[in-house]
Amino acid sequence: MNKTPAPLRILVAGGGIAGNAVALQLLRAGIRTTVVERSTAPRPGGQAVDLRGPSKEVIERMGLMTGVGKYQLHEEGMSVVDRTGRDVYQMPAEMFDGNGPVAEIEITRGDLNRVLLDELDTVTGELDYRYGEWIDALTQDDTGVEVRFASGDTERFDLVIGADGVHSATRRLAFGPEEKYSTYLGGYMSFFTIPTPEGVRPNWMTMHAVPHAAVGIRPDGDPATSKAIITLRTDHDPSLRGDVDAQQRLIRTMLADAGWLAPTVLAAMADTTDFYFDELARIDLPTLTAGRVTLLGDSAFCGSPMTGMGTAMALVGAYLLAGEIASTPDDLPTALKRYEEKATPFLAKAKEMPGGGIKQMVPTSELGLKMMLTIGKLMTTRLMRPIMNRMLAKTDDYTLPTY
Ligand SMILES: Cc1cc2nc3c(=O)[nH]c(=O)nc-3n(C[C@H](O)[C@H](O)[C@H](O)COP(=O)(O)OP(=O)(O)OC[C@H]3O[C@@H](n4cnc5c(N)ncnc54)[C@H](O)[C@@H]3O)c2cc1C
Repeated sequence: MNKTPAPLRILVAGGGIAGNAVALQLLRAGIRTTVVERSTAPRPGGQAVDLRGPSKEVIERMGLMTGVGKYQLHEEGMSVVDRTGRDVYQMPAEMFDGNGPVAEIEITRGDLNRVLLDELDTVTGELDYRYGEWIDALTQDDTGVEVRFASGDTERFDLVIGADGVHSATRRLAFGPEEKYSTYLGGYMSFFTIPTPEGVRPNWMTMHAVPHAAVGIRPDGDPATSKAIITLRTDHDPSLRGDVDAQQRLIRTMLADAGWLAPTVLAAMADTTDFYFDELARIDLPTLTAGRVTLLGDSAFCGSPMTGMGTAMALVGAYLLAGEIASTPDDLPTALKRYEEKATPFLAKAKEMPGGGIKQMVPTSELGLKMMLTIGKLMTTRLMRPIMNRMLAKTDDYTLPTY
């Protein structure tokens, strides 16, 4: 007599954009889903992320446009200023038809995560969401994974999805140490919320660079607050990981003489409640799956915030992974193979670094800075705009499969 197979049970490690997006779609497909998020509450923070091309389409197909619309930012453009705050050049949003550095749809990372969590609250299905929990150990065989959690519990799942970010513990447990897959890209970035400084142009992203460092201020959902963006070009220092005092000391030192509104940003940094700081790293894996463990989002395919594509990769990856699993729930190995085949062309393009990466974004000398500003100004000319458009719309020709 044929036995009906037991319904699938999937564990998602990480409640960021990737983890929550895949969990939502798995639940909608009727799959029992557990999410473990290491922090004790949803992590706020992050500046505006762009939804354009395929990532915008995923949001539409997931039925999240109304939620996104509630928090949508209305940035009017980007301006680059000198030490005195004088404009060097501007890129108004309409200059690139909403496809430039300021995209048609912008929402802060924290608000996008809130939209996903709100939707997870409404979906009917077997969701088990645990904050303050993470995977301690994994043992897998051909049909599933035995997971020991930090809390001491042990449970069995058909599949584990590691969506636990660029320093993924799931990747370390199933694929090996981070150093094997991570390449340092020459600097660090930090994002945090500050009270909107006097003199900042409302609804504009404003950027300012000095040798080795850059500081920017970007609109937030609330006009009273703004998002600070810091980029530092410096050698890798592993001791910075997890040491917020040392991270903030480094930022203060490297921006000490930056001028413009840097002193105001630095003064507000000490009191911010959502300080985020991490190295710029690229993650390259030969394959996204090891047996019954697969990776998604930054843990699998990070190009660093410099690509501006982290959230797009997380959303498109989650759409493909959930879609393939739901297509053949009784044949996970084949579904995971198709996930990888379909995701790879998109990811390869999304991970490409615009321009010369940090070398071009944050020069190390005054001369380099002058050259960077000259190139920036050139990009605003009619002749050069198509090149900028091509760089930013690099994944727009990717066709999403329909599930
Ligand atoms: C607070 C924050 C702010 C960010 N701000 C920006 C920004 O401004 N600009 C930008 O380009 N990118 C930013 N990023 C990165 C960006 O979110 C990702 O590139 C992109 O959205 C893909 O997300 P992800 O879900 O794969 O990874 P992440 O966004 O890093 O999410 C991973 C989640 O997993 C959790 N986690 C970590 N370890 C474990 C574990 N062992 N077990 C369970 N859970 C774990 C983390 O707490 C986090 O919630 C930010 C990330 C975070 C966490």
